[in-house]
Amino acid sequence: MDSGREGKAGEWWLMVEYACKKCRYITEEITVCKVCGSREFAKEWYGYVVVIDPEKSEIAKKLGIKYPGKYALIVS
Ligand SMILES: [Zn+2]
Repeated sequence: MDSGREGKAGEWWLMVEYACKKCRYITEEITVCKVCGSREFAKEWYGYVVVIDPEKSEIAKKLGIKYPGKYALIVS
């Protein structure tokens, strides 16, 4: 990264998000996925959908999402 530019928001680096490799749930915690229990996370992912109410969301049904949250569309 560009080390010459210290961010004004000192904790911004903590905002790195990871996507579960199994269910694509996006989280900042990479211990264990709270949706599927997987322990594999990808740092590289692209695009996302936010599911607020999985039971009413057509996208959630298509993607097989059962829990509210943010999900990556592509996980590398
Ligand atoms: Zn998962």
